[in-house]
Amino acid sequence: MEMCTEEFANKIVQLCISKYNSLKKTGKPKNEAEWTLLSCFVQEKQCSHKLKVVALGTGSKCIGSHQLPSTGDVLHDSHAEVVARRAFVLYLITQVRKATEGHNSIFEIKDGAYYLKSGILFHFYTSHTPCGDASIFLKQEWLECVGNILETKEGPTTSLSSLIGDSDLEPPIKKRRCQGSSDFEDQIALQDTKNAHVKFDNMRKMDDLEKEKNITECIDEVSEVLSDTFRTGAKCVAGEAPDPKLPGSKYHVTGVLRTKPGRGDPTLSLSCSDKIFRWTILGVQGALLMILLKKPVYITTIVIGQCPYSQEAMKRAIYGRFEDGLNNLNLPEEFSVQTPVLVQSSIDFAHSRINIAKTSSEGSKLMPTPTSIIWSDTIVHKESQEVATNGRRLGCTKKNIGTPKSWVSICRKAISCVMLDLLKDTKWQPIDFNELTYNDLKYYSKSYNQAWNILKSKCLSNWTVKPKHVKDFKVK
Ligand SMILES: [Zn+2]
Repeated sequence: MEMCTEEFANKIVQLCISKYNSLKKTGKPKNEAEWTLLSCFVQEKQCSHKLKVVALGTGSKCIGSHQLPSTGDVLHDSHAEVVARRAFVLYLITQVRKATEGHNSIFEIKDGAYYLKSGILFHFYTSHTPCGDASIFLKQEWLECVGNILETKEGPTTSLSSLIGDSDLEPPIKKRRCQGSSDFEDQIALQDTKNAHVKFDNMRKMDDLEKEKNITECIDEVSEVLSDTFRTGAKCVAGEAPDPKLPGSKYHVTGVLRTKPGRGDPTLSLSCSDKIFRWTILGVQGALLMILLKKPVYITTIVIGQCPYSQEAMKRAIYGRFEDGLNNLNLPEEFSVQTPVLVQSSIDFAHSRINIAKTSSEGSKLMPTPTSIIWSDTIVHKESQEVATNGRRLGCTKKNIGTPKSWVSICRKAISCVMLDLLKDTKWQPIDFNELTYNDLKYYSKSYNQAWNILKSKCLSNWTVKPKHVKDFKVK
């Protein structure tokens, strides 16, 4: 791997953004007030330093616990990180198939087991700090970035409130107030952002010389506002320590498991911080591929785009918490606790909330785009990306719900079908292929199950359990 400097991080981000830009418009933000999140997996061949994007996902939506179907054909979690990870699994399955068929692949077969070839690394880019634990830190920690923002030429509609608004994916404050919400969290956030807005407006009115003279003073003033933590709508999972919800920096507890932020039907999906924490131990290949792989596939570097960010909070969320449990993990030998390099890039993603806030017209309400883009370096996406909405293929008619026409290629049903076809072509011999359920298939992933059970018992005992019916569908 190259030295992981900001320069390397920027190179990764440039590649990811140019991949995104090369995709068709469908599924991207449609108007000047819509934003989205982008995540990608980038493959590096160490011998040639060649980097290429192999999986991409966008989106910020998640379906509620009452909408979980028992057919496996709907994406539960469409946050960009999770979409990209599932697209990456599709890429890995395709590569394992190539190795099986004797074609050029990133995997090789030794004594019937599949190994990732040495010198292949994977880097993960996400345009925003992951939701949940990594998003909880003092606004002050981001103060130096605010200094940079003051020095750049800003559009006439930029407001500090849009830049330091709470870091998760709730609708904008104004919109939330209109919906009749009056909880404590909203009131504090509203007051914070109002105060910050006034101070920032005063600063904008100064000419350059005055701004330079006053910058320290101004930053001091703003820091008063920023001595609070960013708020997350991601709720603590039952059994974890609850948020104290005290004013200012004591609002949140840190280091605990949280479900995805959002209102309405509560979700059982864990926050991206928690899912990434799990990847650093169990790998990103998922349970099914571990039936064939000798070792899990880990991420070497995590690159975060331009957004509110704290190195300390990222470290805590991704590998620094549950310390006692982690020190006592007796994992199967294939698995080990990873500490990926964490680095922030200075490159903006044009469709991020911050950028859209800078360029949208005054008064327009910023909203996350409801769609998710799915792309992988596989035959499935050779012609074009897929687009999902509410976990199903965009544009699928009611009549098609439940048929393959409504599936996206990375839902549980589709992934397990592809996986089963692959298993049939390898030397793996289970019981009757035709009767297998998704749950059965997972059962054959012995080392993965063992590692997951250990991890759960030592660190993640409060991880949510989805109803049994969600995983009990027949694969074929
Ligand atoms: Zn997320």
